[in-house]
Amino acid sequence: MRNRAAALETIEQLFLPAECLLCHALLAGRDTRRIVCPVCRHRWRPVRPPWCERCGQPEPHFGPCRLCAEWPAALTLVRSAVWLSDGAREAVHALKYGGMPRIAEDLAAAIAGVSLPTGEASVLVPIPLAPKRLRQRGYNQSDVVAASLGRMWHLPVSRDLLTRTRETATQTALTPETRLANVAGAFTSRPLTPGRRPGVSRDATYILIDDVFTTGATLAEAARALEQAGARTIYGVTFGRAVIPNFT
Ligand SMILES: [Zn+2]
Ligand SMILES: [Zn+2]
Repeated sequence: MRNRAAALETIEQLFLPAECLLCHALLAGRDTRRIVCPVCRHRWRPVRPPWCERCGQPEPHFGPCRLCAEWPAALTLVRSAVWLSDGAREAVHALKYGGMPRIAEDLAAAIAGVSLPTGEASVLVPIPLAPKRLRQRGYNQSDVVAASLGRMWHLPVSRDLLTRTRETATQTALTPETRLANVAGAFTSRPLTPGRRPGVSRDATYILIDDVFTTGATLAEAARALEQAGARTIYGVTFGRAVIPNFT
């Protein structure tokens, strides 16, 4: 699947003019390998505190954070780079549906600015697609983002640790609790046998990578599978964070 992404990238470079996907300004110099120009990238609005220290969602006006209350204990920290607006949505769309895996480099560059506690040994784990969806798309968008981010952060990427047993419909209008039920059991993890996969051990910090955070249900369920396999510390990072409907 990585070969398919590489082939698509070559085709893009042959046929696409070096112009910004979002504003069509010409890309110059070292930006010609990019898809989005620096001006458009600066328009992406970073997600900033005050937020729930655990899930990174802006603090609720009253009461405890409901978004992460049901998460598995090992999933202790989730952050997103930018709000899914101001061109960031179009960038994700190009990655997922536009056959443009090369844009992952732009998304990963935005994620690279997110600060996570640095562990002794960390490994990036992209959220997998179900096999049918992977065949349709030709590549896993979280996988190409993780590959770019792995190069920037100098961390190994473990692609075959998690398996998605079924694809779930995106239902943004659901409450966090219903979303969790909707993705329950959607992932399984291989054993965390040291030495079998780069960076994988029980003591490693697992950093889940996804393109978009909506209610966190997908990350929580993937974390549950890793936790059941014995992972003790799990973080999650996404490029975009959707502004979810008010569910209270
Ligand atoms: Zn632009
Ligand atoms: Zn929270």
